[in-house]
Amino acid sequence: MATYDVAVVGLGAMGGAAIYDLAARGQRVIGLDRFPADHTRGSSHGESRIIRLAYFEHPDYVPLLRLAYRNWRALEADTGQAVLLTTGIVEAGPPGSSIVAGSLASSMEHGIAHTVLDAAQVAARFPALTLPQDWTAVFQPDAGILAPERILALHVAAAKAQGAEVLEGAAVTAVRDRGGSVQLTLADGSTVTAGAVVIAAGGWIGELAPQLAPHLRLTRQALVWFQPRRPALVTPDRLPIFMLDDPRTVTYGFPDWCGTGVKAASHDAGRRLNSADAAAQDADAADAEQITEVLEDLLPAAAGPARQMATCFYTRTPDEHFILGPSPDSARIILASPCSGHGFKFASIIGEILADLSTTGTTDKPIGLFSPTRFG
Ligand SMILES: Cc1cc2nc3c(=O)[nH]c(=O)nc-3n(C[C@H](O)[C@H](O)[C@H](O)COP(=O)(O)OP(=O)(O)OC[C@H]3O[C@@H](n4cnc5c(N)ncnc54)[C@H](O)[C@@H]3O)c2cc1C
Repeated sequence: MATYDVAVVGLGAMGGAAIYDLAARGQRVIGLDRFPADHTRGSSHGESRIIRLAYFEHPDYVPLLRLAYRNWRALEADTGQAVLLTTGIVEAGPPGSSIVAGSLASSMEHGIAHTVLDAAQVAARFPALTLPQDWTAVFQPDAGILAPERILALHVAAAKAQGAEVLEGAAVTAVRDRGGSVQLTLADGSTVTAGAVVIAAGGWIGELAPQLAPHLRLTRQALVWFQPRRPALVTPDRLPIFMLDDPRTVTYGFPDWCGTGVKAASHDAGRRLNSADAAAQDADAADAEQITEVLEDLLPAAAGPARQMATCFYTRTPDEHFILGPSPDSARIILASPCSGHGFKFASIIGEILADLSTTGTTDKPIGLFSPTRFG
């Protein structure tokens, strides 16, 4: 007899959301993470994450996004804590910008409220933004800021309150289908047995699901917090989230929503990492240079000195879509790598999907884009 109904490996954004949902369903669930809570070695730290509805990456994400929004609001109602601040987003670029075109296509296909603005209209509405004259922007009012550290803590605390067991500092070294149950081996040699396992190990997933490893590319991404030059112009009521398709580097960022400055970063692939263990908090002045250049031109009100930096990493698939579904080797082993630099906003619905898959073997949510076997 299995000790647990479901074991969840990795308590980042995805694993935390999974144990939250599983515990709420009354499942006997254990979550394990190799590091203590609040660590900054994975992909889910850094104060803020964007959530947006008009999805330039692919319109098929929109139905999932609507469910994700529903679940973020449900988390707020459940815990009494705010996790999502609505600010809207300006996505802008030069003629031919794939971000602008993709955002518009998503909006049209799904009837999402949006406004198309030229550079002068953007400046009139959001005076911090000084876009080149030939740029076009799409403003989408439902976008907002998620608070990742708070969300991870809330998911784990609420799961524990419902009976979930959580082991920190517990690295899982192997996962095996034993026919009728799954056995996890930990670095200290101990074992955990469960009816099913969710592997939500972020950039380490290839170690436990080696068939995925050749298809994943880890890239180092730097985050920079800028001291605003004109603080009154970059508060959330005057500056929405921005995604600027600048030819030098695609630059996104957040208004100064919690007094730490304007956080901005490049969405382009950073330096390749050989493994997740190679990631380090090693951001330096060179990381700030190109982003500063873009802000100087397009958002000068924000472009004061860099006052804080951090690194994080993307786990990218070849098509930049997520990996989510049962392993081809065992229906009891559910694989979850929703990253490629855009997964966080979906965590609230991915937790529900992982709970569906690990308890019933199926889900009614649209995850057709994310098959773990699509790369061969
Ligand atoms: C700089 C940056 C900016 C981003 N911006 C956005 C954004 O604005 N909007 C958005 O939607 N998304 C964004 N993303 C993407 C999003 O943050 C990720 O998709 C998401 O955080 C991935 O969560 P995860 O749970 O898969 O991975 P992680 O958070 O890395 O969690 C994996 C966990 O597994 C644990 N683990 C690994 N191996 C083992 C093992 N063997 N045993 C036990 N535990 C293990 C790790 O310790 C870790 O805690 C961004 C990512 C980065 C890096």
